[in-house]
Amino acid sequence: MSFTIAIDGPAAAGKGTISKAVAAEFGFAHLDTGLLYRAVGAKVLAGTEAVQAAQNLQSEDFGDADLRTTKVAEAASKVAAIPAVRSALLDFQIEFAARDGGAVLDGRDIGTVICPNADVKLFVTASAEVRADRRFKELTAKGDQTDFQKVLAAVIARDERDAARDVAPMVAAADAITLDTSDMSIENAVAQAISAIRAKYIPS
Ligand code: C5P
Repeated sequence: MSFTIAIDGPAAAGKGTISKAVAAEFGFAHLDTGLLYRAVGAKVLAGTEAVQAAQNLQSEDFGDADLRTTKVAEAASKVAAIPAVRSALLDFQIEFAARDGGAVLDGRDIGTVICPNADVKLFVTASAEVRADRRFKELTAKGDQTDFQKVLAAVIARDERDAARDVAPMVAAADAITLDTSDMSIENAVAQAISAIRAKYIPS
C-alpha cells in the first residue's frame, strides 16, 4: 500500500525535522529532496556541468558533510532553476513516493509537481527573521564566524530565487495545510503535523 506525504516550504522552517518525526511515527520512508539538488550543486562547484551532474548522481554523492553548507545551498538553488536538472531528478522522486509502505518527501515542489495527488500535503513556513535566527544559531553552535544580517540576506535571496523561478517554483499547493512555525516550538509543530496526517491515514 502506498501513502504519500508531501512536505514543502522554505529553508529552516522546520520541514526537515517534521518530516523525520512523521516518517518515524508512521514507519514511512523519508526522502529529503533538497539533498538531490545539493549533491548536484556540490558537483557543479567541483567543476561538473549541471545537467551532466544531475544525470549521473550516485549514492556516494550524498555522504559529503559539505552538502549542508550555505555555499552548497546557494549552488543548489541555482541549479534547481535549470529545467533539465529538475527533469533528470524527477523519476527517482516519483518512484520513491509510490513505494510500498508509505513515503514522506520534503522539498519545494512535492505537493505541486512531484506528487500532485499526495494523500497529505503540508506547507511548513516561518518568517524570514525567525528562520535566519535558527540558521544563525546552528552556524554559530558549529563554530562558524558569521553575522545575523548576512544569514538573513542569504535566506531571503534563496527564498526569492526558489519562489521566482519559472519551473516548479516554491509555492504552497492549493490543497496544502499551512503550518507557520514562527511562534511554535518544534514539538508543537511536529504534533500538529502528526495529527493532520492521522486524520487522513488509516493503516491497513
Ligand atoms: O531543502 P534544502 O535547503 O536542502 O534545498 C536546497 C535547495 O534545493 C533549495 O533552495 C531549492 O532551490 C532546491 N530544491 C528544489 N526542489 C526541491 C528541494 C530543493 O528546488 N524539491
